[in-house]
Amino acid sequence: MDNEVHRGFETLAIHAGQEPDPTTGAVVPPIYQVSTYKQDGIGGLRGGYEYSRSANPTRTALEVCLAEIEAGTRGLAFASGLAGEDALIRAVCKPGDHVIIPNDAYGGTYRLFAKVAEPWGVEFDPVPLLDVAAVAAAVRPETKIVWVETPTNPLLAIADIRALAQIAHDAGALLVVDNTFASPYLQRPLELGADVVVHSTTKYIGGHSDVIGGALVVADEALGEQLAYHQNAMGAVAGPFDAWLTLRGIKTLGVRMDRHCANAERMVEMLTRHPAVREVLYPGLPGHPGHDVAAKQMRAFGGMVSFRMESEEAAVRVCERTKLFTLGESLGGVESLIEHPGRMTHASVAGSPLEVPADLVRLSVGIEDADDLLRDLRQALD
Ligand SMILES: *Cc1c(COP(=O)(O)O)cnc(C)c1O
Repeated sequence: MDNEVHRGFETLAIHAGQEPDPTTGAVVPPIYQVSTYKQDGIGGLRGGYEYSRSANPTRTALEVCLAEIEAGTRGLAFASGLAGEDALIRAVCKPGDHVIIPNDAYGGTYRLFAKVAEPWGVEFDPVPLLDVAAVAAAVRPETKIVWVETPTNPLLAIADIRALAQIAHDAGALLVVDNTFASPYLQRPLELGADVVVHSTTKYIGGHSDVIGGALVVADEALGEQLAYHQNAMGAVAGPFDAWLTLRGIKTLGVRMDRHCANAERMVEMLTRHPAVREVLYPGLPGHPGHDVAAKQMRAFGGMVSFRMESEEAAVRVCERTKLFTLGESLGGVESLIEHPGRMTHASVAGSPLEVPADLVRLSVGIEDADDLLRDLRQALD
């Protein structure tokens, strides 16, 4: 595309890494379902491709697109969000190092640190990231990563990316931001000083609950090289069809997020007034402790809404009574989902510092008709 053409977010989402195919003119990158590539003489690679674990053209299209929509220099696509996290931890840390993670980190991230990284020798401390002084106090000489999620899952706490980047960098550590809940349409951590963005592309980026995938995006080219080395050495890459599905999802990320956010606000409005609901957790609410920071670093407040009922039984009952909101784990797809974190997504952190309230309900608000969604939630609450 002509360099003179301005490329805003939605333009990048549709075109970055996806020039029409030079041989056929196809406007969508083909699914290169191939493992190896003919060499014109030993080492004579035609398009720079030799073996699809190292690189594959469909995955390259996705990786270029991810880098551009996150304002980074390098994107790397993995078989899952956790595969990307694993490659990142192994590339950056060695036994004896230390990591700070959110005290309400995604359960799988906590498990990766507690059951895989720690036995390997990497220590970690869960810290409430809202408390910048607590993060600064938890930093040690061995700290290599300050790991941030914002908004968090499922409590939707907000962390100040700029302030935490300062603390991490003063300590010689990297600031890693899991941007899964916000998506790059709502928040671009690299522009706020982060070093690495992590995604479960399974969620909003893919957006259709039809693919498992993960991504790392970095600002620094040398760090990008190091992560690419580990991606190839460890091998948990995104396959061509998964990469293609994810690219297709990205094209509509902006319009989907606008609707996710608008629908979420409608649910919040109703829930805050409903007598059976004790508390609504949503960063868009002026009373939310992270509201001001969220307003500063996010374009809008996202499609995830959590709320607390009077009891665990009441929370479970709501989850089992909705008809349009599907009872299920995961999030970020076009269809609305409801779940009970204490017994579902966060059952594995019961008894740990990351345990979540038993009366909590989590919604992933989809892009269906908002009035239909409101009716469904109301009948489940009444
Ligand atoms: C789902 C999720 C992950 C893990 O991603 P997978 O694709 O399931 O491996 C990591 N972080 C957050 C915030 C998530 O929601």
